[in-house]
Amino acid sequence: MEATERVFVLHCFDPDLRPIVMGLLAELGIEKTAICFNPAGGCKDLAAPTLDSDTGYIMRQVHLAVELGATHVIVLNHTDCRAYQKAFGQFPSKEKEEALHKKHMEKSEAIIRAVYPRLTFEHRLARLERASAERPTSVEFVTVKPRPQNEMVPVAV
Ligand SMILES: [Zn+2]
Repeated sequence: MEATERVFVLHCFDPDLRPIVMGLLAELGIEKTAICFNPAGGCKDLAAPTLDSDTGYIMRQVHLAVELGATHVIVLNHTDCRAYQKAFGQFPSKEKEEALHKKHMEKSEAIIRAVYPRLTFEHRLARLERASAERPTSVEFVTVKPRPQNEMVPVAV
């Protein structure tokens, strides 16, 4: 990873997710350079906006991140997301919940790439297990779509 590269990280504002995201950024060596944007639900308001203005607002943040040098986007959603529960109710199964997150991450990438085709993407799903009397909050990251290696970016003519 080049020192000048900036990564834009789109993730939910859930405080239970924050230390997990910070740990991931440290692991990737981008904790001091990543541009984090954390609206409720992560990419939810891009893939399934509640208000008409949601999409424009998020795209404006993407635009500003690109102006600051962002070349790569990590779309990071998580299970047991209260923004998703508020919008879609309780999921009948973990499989259906994860399937919707994967669909939304794909859709979000498509929406952003339509405007910023040079950005590269990876999708990560955090399987969040909230703290209980027996154990602390834990997470397992699932790489839904890995970061592309040496992806050829077509040059506009
Ligand atoms: Zn959430």
